[in-house]
Amino acid sequence: MIVIMKENAREEAAAAVIGRLESCGLIAWRSDGERRTLIGAVGDAGRIDAEMLRAMDGVEDVRRISEPFPRCGRHAHPADTVTAVGDAAFGGGHFAMIAGPCAVESREQILALAPVLKAAGAQLLRGGAFKPRTSPYAFQGYGAQALAWLAEAGAAAGLPTVSEILSPEQLPLFEHIDMLQIGARNMQNYELLKAVSGAGKPVLLKRSPAGTVRELLLAAEYLMAGGCEQIVLCERGIRSFETATRNTLDLSAVPVLKEKTHLPVIVDPSHATGCARFVPPMALAAAAAGADGLMVEVHPEPAMALSDGPQALTPAQFEKLGAAVGRVRRALEAEA
Ligand code: PEP
Ligand code: MN
Repeated sequence: MIVIMKENAREEAAAAVIGRLESCGLIAWRSDGERRTLIGAVGDAGRIDAEMLRAMDGVEDVRRISEPFPRCGRHAHPADTVTAVGDAAFGGGHFAMIAGPCAVESREQILALAPVLKAAGAQLLRGGAFKPRTSPYAFQGYGAQALAWLAEAGAAAGLPTVSEILSPEQLPLFEHIDMLQIGARNMQNYELLKAVSGAGKPVLLKRSPAGTVRELLLAAEYLMAGGCEQIVLCERGIRSFETATRNTLDLSAVPVLKEKTHLPVIVDPSHATGCARFVPPMALAAAAAGADGLMVEVHPEPAMALSDGPQALTPAQFEKLGAAVGRVRRALEAEA
């Protein structure tokens, strides 16, 4: 980290900055130029708040040299992390498709759908049990019962399962679920991140609609600092001025994230676009952009879905998409 002092900064201001850096455990030194003083600091820069330094008397600017996410950054860990969930793997050349309904709507429905999705190329079964809905009057999910149905369907079809957890208190209910999903609305719910990090399960961390790449990585850093190493990041669209799609799929986040972190990155084109017709093209684009997997909402009868029907593919559409994704990935491999 480098602190650039103002031209007219008083000597006491530079001394105060050095004192602050040292009190945070960093080693600081100064370089006095003709017009200004530069103060350098090495050590665990994550311990210091750059904004706090910037607000100090006589400080012109603060530049970080290393990113504030040492555990999930590529610096300390150049090789790709492979996150495995059952037989599915993401990252390091592994690509997996997560498929399933927005919400688990009944035992019969998920039991019937799971083997169809497996045959269509899914490697993980998704389904919401606790649904974070914008309106308190919208369908909220069938809770613990839905988790039991999902686990049963996954086990019967031979598919590992993933479902969204909304609060630390719900953790015991997820005992038989293989992967915990932190939904977009909870990306910065730090108590939830801490609780989930110690659960000993892989975590699917979705980007918040208003979260920057840096904030997403800092959320992942919470998980890693808490002992969780099996993480998958998910770009699912951000909020923009555009209203033609439900969110705006920030596909550039895929190569940006993959440069900054060793963690696998997948894309959810369903919540990103909100429209089933737009899911296949954006899924193919995500594969072409280097994503390590996809999460796609699939419902046996989208028109009858209790939530997010308009963006759900039918199993047949999903199967067709899976084949097309395979062709894109093979073309990329031939290119490499
Ligand atoms: C979901 O995947 O079920 C979901 C609610 O998505 P998001 O958190 O991205 O809105
Ligand atoms: Mn949904």
